[in-house]
Amino acid sequence: MNTWSLVKKDDRHFINPFLVPGKQLNFDPKNEEFVKHLKAVTNKLLMQWERDVKAEIDYTGSSNWSDYSIYTGKSGYALLYFEAANILNSAEYLEQAFFMAEKCTMHLHKPNAKDLTFLTGAGGPLALAAVCAHLLKQPEKEHHFIHRLQSLYHSFEAVTDSSSGIPDELLYGRAGCLYSLLFMKQYCKDKVDGNLIVHIAEAIIDSGKRLAKEMQHKGYKTPPLMFEWHDKKYLGPAHGFAGIIYLLMQVKDYLDPGVLENYIRPCLDFLLEIRYPGGNFPSSMDSDRDRLVQWCHGAPGFIHCFVLAAKVFNSDVYLGAAKLCADVTWERGILTKGFSICHGISGNALAILHLYKYTNELVYLQRACKLAEIVIDDRPHELCTPDRPLSMFEGTAGVIFFLLNLREPEKSTCNFPGYQVNSFDKI
Ligand SMILES: [Zn+2]
Repeated sequence: MNTWSLVKKDDRHFINPFLVPGKQLNFDPKNEEFVKHLKAVTNKLLMQWERDVKAEIDYTGSSNWSDYSIYTGKSGYALLYFEAANILNSAEYLEQAFFMAEKCTMHLHKPNAKDLTFLTGAGGPLALAAVCAHLLKQPEKEHHFIHRLQSLYHSFEAVTDSSSGIPDELLYGRAGCLYSLLFMKQYCKDKVDGNLIVHIAEAIIDSGKRLAKEMQHKGYKTPPLMFEWHDKKYLGPAHGFAGIIYLLMQVKDYLDPGVLENYIRPCLDFLLEIRYPGGNFPSSMDSDRDRLVQWCHGAPGFIHCFVLAAKVFNSDVYLGAAKLCADVTWERGILTKGFSICHGISGNALAILHLYKYTNELVYLQRACKLAEIVIDDRPHELCTPDRPLSMFEGTAGVIFFLLNLREPEKSTCNFPGYQVNSFDKI
């Protein structure tokens, strides 16, 4: 029986009921009752989700496959099946992931420049279908999907040419195209074109240099790269700076050796400078209200970036920044918006879990478990219901994704979907 209750701090956050100032969290993640409850609720949610997905999907026709995206649509369902297949070692789930990803690839609209990335475009279903085909030992289909995705990116000059018009960010831009290739490369290795990775990364860097120069001509002090989306200089992973820098660090082995020191490091230091005094990050350059603490905007989404920066630059300063982000996330990350991974409690907990994977410091696993306790609690909450309740980034699929990883964090990757590859291994 839980001894806590949620009390609103403001319209966005609950007070963290586990936080006692000056006192360390006292919790054993291997506590038998917690582990049993976590497992039971995860299984129940997964079964319920599968029932709802099967009821929603038209297995024979094509009427309701129009949202094929990872973010809110059917290939996000496929990505959860894929994750569950890995963690639960289930051949059946892998088959299901492949069925759904392949089905999505049959319903891709004629892509335009807005429909290319892993999270919101054709990149997600095509990359996932390629990887499933690889694991299911269907080399012809694997080749087909890799070829289709790479041809698509080659056919849009804007993907590799920084002078023409797509953004650089993760959800709709070049960083999201880069992620599609990296996701495939983890499994399909040399079958994925390394030159394409290089060209996209170079286009992002060129684009960043150009905007930085433009701003410097206007008298602004900027780091050597700057990025914008819809005329706004966003900073978080979904639309902005941290997400782009993070993707560039994940492809560091493809970049000129000077890029890390001359471009990436000054960008990371710039981020440290513009933090709010408490350690949270503004959502964009012109924002001065310290409000948002969620993966897409605010401290949680910067944890991944600074963890990798700590690793790449062997820097305690960046590790300290990641830990401060985790403190902010722990203190202010119980959100009234709900449980989603994009802007909810599960995404915040998944980010903290990533810091545990890197540092092996128990406190971060304890915090992720306590946040999970809220997610798996069966009392009704004053939480918002998402528009797409079964989806990966707004709904239950993302919640289950987090809980499955938390069950056995040592064995699982705990990767944030659509954002992170196994970055501690060489890709
Ligand atoms: Zn969000």
